Amino acid sequence: MPKVPGMVKGLGVTFRTMVETLKPSGGPATVQYPHEKEEPSPRARGVIALHEENCTACMLCSRECPDWCIYIEAHKTLAPPRRAGGKPRQVNQLDRFAIDYSLCMYCGICVEVCPFEALFWSPEYEFSEVSIADLLHEKERLGEWMETVPDFEAYEAGSEAKGKKVPR
Ligand code: SF4
Ligand code: SF4
Repeated sequence: MPKVPGMVKGLGVTFRTMVETLKPSGGPATVQYPHEKEEPSPRARGVIALHEENCTACMLCSRECPDWCIYIEAHKTLAPPRRAGGKPRQVNQLDRFAIDYSLCMYCGICVEVCPFEALFWSPEYEFSEVSIADLLHEKERLGEWMETVPDFEAYEAGSEAKGKKVPR
């Protein structure tokens, strides 16, 4: 049997797809954004939200980020003792937490490694900017994204329940 050139095969795929889209049950797969918008899945990786109260400035996310696009600054401060009569505790006070979305590759490592449930994915994706400098989101803006983090979904039946809980 003679070998069919790759280009002819490719054109065949294009033709078949074109015929499919002309069927009443078909239709174009392209969405005319921004006039039409698709609903992303609840766990889509759109933007990362910061739950600042949970962040201890441990720097783990920043160290693990392959792009080095998380910037954290903090200072030591004294917090009240846990029990009456105890010593004041030394804790980290977060001064700055920023993610540069012009560098982020949405790998999710920072969200996975955070031991204190401070980072969450939001499916929100509309944060493009005219100036690339505006893609640097400081902690105030990262905190606002928490509003768009979907509620925690129950685990599938039979799966082990040892994951994260979303603070509310
Ligand atoms: S998603 Fe990946 S690249 Fe983006 S900030 Fe987190 S660790 Fe860095
Ligand atoms: S890993 Fe979590 S707690 Fe540690 S600095 Fe990053 S966001 Fe904060």
